[in-house]
Amino acid sequence: MDTYALCNPCIPGLLFSYLNNKNNMDSLKNNPGYSKNDSSKVVLPDEEWKKILLPVVYYIARQKGTERPWSSKFEDSKAIGTYYCAACGNALFKSDTKFESACGWPSFYEPISKAAIIYTPDNTHGMHRTEVQCGRCKSHLGHVFEDGPQPTGLRYCVNGVVLDFEKAKEAEKKFNKNNS
Ligand SMILES: [Zn+2]
Repeated sequence: MDTYALCNPCIPGLLFSYLNNKNNMDSLKNNPGYSKNDSSKVVLPDEEWKKILLPVVYYIARQKGTERPWSSKFEDSKAIGTYYCAACGNALFKSDTKFESACGWPSFYEPISKAAIIYTPDNTHGMHRTEVQCGRCKSHLGHVFEDGPQPTGLRYCVNGVVLDFEKAKEAEKKFNKNNS
């Protein structure tokens, strides 16, 4: 089956047209649960998330929306570093487990840790899929499919909207040194 068809039906791109020009971090200034160091669970009422997050992040993370395929700046990014949950700062994936899936969304074959992700059966849209949520704040991230590369054979198909990326500092230093 076309992997394209496996992901949620897309909603009109209108909502996402400004997305790549927006920095997700702008929305986090008043986010009480956001932390890259604190691993305790973040439980906030829906109204609170709505106030804290950018509308597009809220739509994907809290209402299980799907971004338009090929719309994420992370889709073909090869930068070395770590991907975090845009809603709470939880570390989710390392760039060395990212691969080119050609499905239109950033794809990874393995999460950074077992606790990073929560798995939930999703039988919506007439499909049997496994939803992946952030292990810390339960934001919707995307789905996992069993057609990924080795060593796991899994493909974590994730909405770039709910990812924040931080470059690896060591790699960055090395890069700058080699290019100076
Ligand atoms: Zn989260």
